[in-house]
Amino acid sequence: ASHAPILAVRNLEAWYGESHILHGINFDVNPGEVVTLLGRNGAGKTTTLKSVMGIIGKRTGSIRFDGKEIIRASSDRIARSGIAFCPEERGIFASLDVRENLLLPPTVRSGGLTMDQIFELFPNLKERLGSQGTKLSGGEQQMLAIGRILRTGARFLMLDEPTEGLAPVIIQQIGQTIKRLKSEGFTILLVEQNFRFAATVADRYYIVEHGKIIDGFANAELQANMDKLHTYLGV
Ligand code: ATP
Repeated sequence: ASHAPILAVRNLEAWYGESHILHGINFDVNPGEVVTLLGRNGAGKTTTLKSVMGIIGKRTGSIRFDGKEIIRASSDRIARSGIAFCPEERGIFASLDVRENLLLPPTVRSGGLTMDQIFELFPNLKERLGSQGTKLSGGEQQMLAIGRILRTGARFLMLDEPTEGLAPVIIQQIGQTIKRLKSEGFTILLVEQNFRFAATVADRYYIVEHGKIIDGFANAELQANMDKLHTYLGV
């Protein structure tokens, strides 16, 4: 079945002050897919996610979400249109406990997960409900960060390196969570350095290099692209 992409990015350019970082990014995400942006450090993956979320000062080109142009929309309006961003640094408030962190973001749309649904997804969080952000392990912080954006009602999730610095068993749990969210109809745009992890969840990949998308392929084409990938990623 062919359907319109939920996210269509065309000729996206972005700047931090005077620094021109993205030089014409083009890619699509279809409804219900897990799409992964791969690339070396500094290639522009995080900047691409921030541009979609509207938290980069200057950006040009076109970003269409659910059929609507959002390149000039405020981050607030973009959030209300149903996009959520889980940053690499996770953004857990150290002085707040798990419950307070979960209650922090406003619900921007109907259909956000209830606290009980979040605890079903992440049983650890329920046990740690009264623990302060500082007391949580890296894995618990990442689960809290993902749980928190699920409360908002967004159905399009952007996760920036969710496995960074985590133990293999926790990485596996994050992978299972991503698959579960996909099976429940969420669409996920992932940035990953951990290529092995990405291969367990992704439907498709795009390679980012020097602020451009230089290649893209489906998971089924992964083996055929292995040599190229080693060159692109230096792994
Ligand atoms: P990483 O895994 O290192 O985050 P990335 O592909 O996500 O890699 P970006 O974070 O998008 O890369 O960074 C792209 C370029 O933009 C890099 O050269 C980086 O130094 C630069 N950059 C990132 N954030 C800023 C900022 N706030 N101000 C100026 N330059 C920045």
